[in-house]
Amino acid sequence: MENVEKLILIRFGEIHLKGQNRPYFENMLQRRIREAVAFYEGARVSRHDGRYFVRGAEHNPEVIEKICRVFGVHSVCPAVQMPKDSFEDICEMACELMKDEKGSFKVHARRSDKRYPMGSPEIAAKVGEAVLNANENLHVDIKNPDTRLEVEIRDKAFLYSKVYMARGGMPVGSNGKAYVLLSGGIDSPVAAYMTAKRGVHIDAVHFDSPPYTSARSRQKVIDLAKLLTDYCGSIRLHIVPFTEIQQEIYEKCPDEELTILMRRSMMRIAQAIAIEGNGTALVTGESIGQVASQTLESLASTNDVCALPVIRPLICFDKSEIMEVARDIGTYETSILPYEDCCTVFVPRHPKTHPKIEDVRKSEENVDFAALEARAMEQATFMDLHLGDSHEVEQY
Ligand code: ATP
Ligand code: MG
Repeated sequence: MENVEKLILIRFGEIHLKGQNRPYFENMLQRRIREAVAFYEGARVSRHDGRYFVRGAEHNPEVIEKICRVFGVHSVCPAVQMPKDSFEDICEMACELMKDEKGSFKVHARRSDKRYPMGSPEIAAKVGEAVLNANENLHVDIKNPDTRLEVEIRDKAFLYSKVYMARGGMPVGSNGKAYVLLSGGIDSPVAAYMTAKRGVHIDAVHFDSPPYTSARSRQKVIDLAKLLTDYCGSIRLHIVPFTEIQQEIYEKCPDEELTILMRRSMMRIAQAIAIEGNGTALVTGESIGQVASQTLESLASTNDVCALPVIRPLICFDKSEIMEVARDIGTYETSILPYEDCCTVFVPRHPKTHPKIEDVRKSEENVDFAALEARAMEQATFMDLHLGDSHEVEQY
C-alpha cells in the first residue's frame, strides 16, 4: 500500500467547551504539545479538524508518554494515516491492525468529510465484517468490546485501536499564573500539580533556614520543582532565607503562636513576590485539620494577611489520597527523603490550634516584620527550571 504513514493522533478534552476563546486555548495547547515533543528530533505537530497530529516520530513510546503529560490532552492514539479513496485498502489495513487481537471488538467510524460516499454506520459495518472474516479469534460486541477500532474519514483516512488516556485539564498558561509555597513535603508539590492541571502557570517560593536546614534539604526542594516541570513546564523557583525571621519570632513572640506567625510571614513574602511577578494567586498544600496550623481558625489567620486568593487544592483530601497522587506524579519518593525543613526546626511545644486573629496581630507587634521581610526578599535568589529537567533528578 502506498502513502501509508504512522503518526500520533491526539484528542483533546475540556477546551471543546470554550466557545469564543477556543482558538486561544487551541493555540496554547498546540504550543505545549510542541514543547513536549521537542526533545525528539524531526517530530512535527499540526492541528486539523479538531485533532492534533504528531508526525515524524512514528509511534515512539517516549513521545507518547510525554504527550500524555500535557494538560488539556484527553487521549493519545498511535494511528495510521492513509488515502481514503480505496475502501478496499482501508479494510485491508483494518485487518492488518487487528490481526493479533483476540476476544471481542467493535468498529467505530467517524466521518468529517460529508461527501464521502458512505455513512459512518455503513463504514463501521463493512470494516467490521472484513475484520471478522480475517481473524477467527475475534467476535463482535457493540456494548462492551475488548478492542475498539476507530476509523476516521477526514482529509485522509485514520485508523487506530490503541488509546492512551492522558490527564485532561487545560493547557498550562491558559489560566494565568500562581505562586506555590513549595516545601519539601508531600503536599505542596501535589497542590502545584493540581493547580497547573487547571491551566495555571506555576512559579514557586521556598523558605530556607540555613544553617538549621541543610544544603541537602534545599536540593530536595529543587528536585521536587524539577520533577514538577514534567507537568508544569517552566517554573521559576524563588528561595528565600527565613532564618532571621524565625529566630526573631522565637525570641519575641509567644511560643504557642510560633507556627502561625511563621506561616503569616511566609504568606506575606510569597504574596509580595507573586505581585512583583504578575501572579494573581497563591497555592498551598494545606488540608483541614492535618496539623495544628491547618485548623479552620489557623487558616483564617493566615488568610488574614493575604489579599490575593489562596488556592488550597488539597483542602478536603485525606493524607492517603494526597499520597496516592504524589506517587502517581512521581514526587512521593523525593518528598519522603528525611531531610529537615524550616517548620520542623522551630516547633512550638504546644501549638495553638484555635488562634484568635486579634491575638496573633498583637503578638506580631513585637517584631519588625516589615523590615525583616524586606531584607529576606532582597536576599532571595531564584532559579529557572524547564521541561525535561526531571531527568537530572535521581530516581529512587
Ligand atoms: P507539605 O507536605 O507541603 O510540607 P505539610 O503537611 O508539611 O505540607 P505544613 O508544613 O504545615 O504542612 O505547611 C503547610 C503549607 O505551607 C505547605 O503545604 C506549603 O504550601 C507551605 N510551606 C510550609 N513550609 C514551607 C517552606 N519551607 N517553604 C515554602 N512553603 C512552605
Ligand atoms: Mg511541611
